[in-house]
Amino acid sequence: MSGDHRHGPGGHHHGHPFDPDDPTPPPTGTRIAEGVLELDTLLGGWEQVTAGYLIEGDAPVLVETGSQSSVPALLAHLGRLGLGPEDLAGVVVTHIHLDHAGGVGDVARAFPKATVYVHPKGARHLADPTRLVDSAARVYGPLLDSLYGRLDPTPAERIHVLEDGEEIRVSTNRALTAVDSPGHAKHHLALHDNWSGTLFAGDAVGVKLPDAGVLRPSTPPPDFDLTQALTSLQRFAERRPTGLALAHYGLLADPLDVLDEADGTLRRWADVAEAAYRDGRDIAAALSEAFASDLDGVPEEHREKLEVMNGVHSNAAGLQRWLSGRENNGGEGAAG
Ligand SMILES: [Zn+2]
Repeated sequence: MSGDHRHGPGGHHHGHPFDPDDPTPPPTGTRIAEGVLELDTLLGGWEQVTAGYLIEGDAPVLVETGSQSSVPALLAHLGRLGLGPEDLAGVVVTHIHLDHAGGVGDVARAFPKATVYVHPKGARHLADPTRLVDSAARVYGPLLDSLYGRLDPTPAERIHVLEDGEEIRVSTNRALTAVDSPGHAKHHLALHDNWSGTLFAGDAVGVKLPDAGVLRPSTPPPDFDLTQALTSLQRFAERRPTGLALAHYGLLADPLDVLDEADGTLRRWADVAEAAYRDGRDIAAALSEAFASDLDGVPEEHREKLEVMNGVHSNAAGLQRWLSGRENNGGEGAAG
């Protein structure tokens, strides 16, 4: 993407009309590290809720497409950055939930040379999204079409399954290493950029929207597993990243402190859920009561975003399912 600054499909944006004689594309995205651009994919039209990341190099790679409804915003970013249809070498999703991977089929079509990278447990759902979309319809209800959109299939020959430790080469000296990180979902991986030290953590560390300022765990059904989630945080810490880039949302520059905080909040949420579960109380009500004060001072207009991205009910449902699965399997760690 160096040198050849083709103009993209974006047209006008935020008062920066294209000047065909100006070789410099209008600014877009936020540079969060050397060769790393954060692209706001504007789920629901909200700012700073869903991020994609472009890793620059000879073979540029996009991390997360966002949902299908985010594709126009994403393609406009990539166009403004001068990426033509032949220029994107790879697209990788941290996991296949629709707010991360819903746009993959569209992006694969727009960039025919891009390889699509995904966790081994997610690959078949990108090739044939029928079951994934059906299950998302049950979870999201009317929000599936009004907010997220669906997921177009990706031709199987375009899909590359990423094993733990495998590298995606971006430049001679730059690669992203896949870090298997189940817990939030069994098909979750993170990507560690050896050049900037940034770890693209997907949802494994939780959700911290800049407008809310609170780190919360993300424990949705059907896969959430506490033991795995804590192990994944430990694996991240062992890699000594220089920054954590969350899908929801942005760069956190003090990674070891954040990972420690994530470990603590995850355990507290699980403890509250487990106590409620044992006493036969409603888990969502117990979580709301225990953690509502986290959001004191967060303006009402920002709470809706947090509720959609990381609602107490979704977290409660995931914790409930984990607790009952653990019980049915006869002990801790047996689930999954
Ligand atoms: Zn997410």
